Amino acid sequence: MIIYKKIAGIREKLGALRHKGKVGFVPTMGALHEGHLELLQSARKENMFAVASIFVNPAQFNDPKDFQKYPVTIEKDIDKLIRAGCDILFLPDQDEIYPGGFTALEDYDLGSLDQILEGKFRPGHYQGVCRVVNRLLDVVEPDCLYLGQKDYQQCLVIRRLLDITGRGTSMRICDTVREPDGLAMSSRNMRLSPSQRAIAPDIYKVLQHCHKHLREGNLQHLRDEACNELTRQGFRVDYLEFAHALSLDIKTSWNGIDPMVVLVAVFMEDVRLIDNKLLTF
Ligand code: AMP
Repeated sequence: MIIYKKIAGIREKLGALRHKGKVGFVPTMGALHEGHLELLQSARKENMFAVASIFVNPAQFNDPKDFQKYPVTIEKDIDKLIRAGCDILFLPDQDEIYPGGFTALEDYDLGSLDQILEGKFRPGHYQGVCRVVNRLLDVVEPDCLYLGQKDYQQCLVIRRLLDITGRGTSMRICDTVREPDGLAMSSRNMRLSPSQRAIAPDIYKVLQHCHKHLREGNLQHLRDEACNELTRQGFRVDYLEFAHALSLDIKTSWNGIDPMVVLVAVFMEDVRLIDNKLLTF
């Protein structure tokens, strides 16, 4: 695996390789786990070259404490990427990604996507995500971008980014990789105490309950039941919502036809976890 810290270096290398075959790209913020590595495996299978990036993007953290506490395990990450067969790692610093600092950065028209769910509770988050992803796409120019369903709303945001920037890049959404007890793998899981870790799988149990009990008609009772169960377990619920799986319009009732997804964000003390489940595919 070749590691590049500078844009000029990785551009030159990819420029020389591109005619040999397709480039698949996996952007990450590091603290890598099996979820990230699954994306890399898909990128490897479907392309000639697999490129990953590690950059903890300050522009997408609305809470500076969350940014400061974001786990950094770079040596282990490099080791995991080598063993997973990654060809190129892009490891830029902040100046390389934001040479002009954080002021006067472009805003993207994300419609309602950055006003609802994560967008509502983390103002500015998706603008920050778009800024870094757009910058990384300018550098790597991949044929295909690999994203995890774990961040469902982010996948829809980036699909929109690809549309509005008119890139030819395609996008693959890979299934959420879970621990054996159902907890969605996340870099933030390593910040959970043993007692928090023990109840964290309940998030997915509640989503499974929603899946099992989804019926045509009003969803308010099921939503209340799910929120109450999470609160009872000691989670602070930011949101638990049912939404149209393609538009992400929040739904308080189901017509029995629309593809649906249930999305949740909870705090356990200062650790924020998100998860989701497709309900009707
Ligand atoms: P992050 O490093 O958290 O920004 O995530 C980088 C990419 O990995 C994003 O596309 C995430 O959706 C994806 N990802 C994170 N956790 C998982 C998981 N448990 N399963 C599948 N993909 C994941």
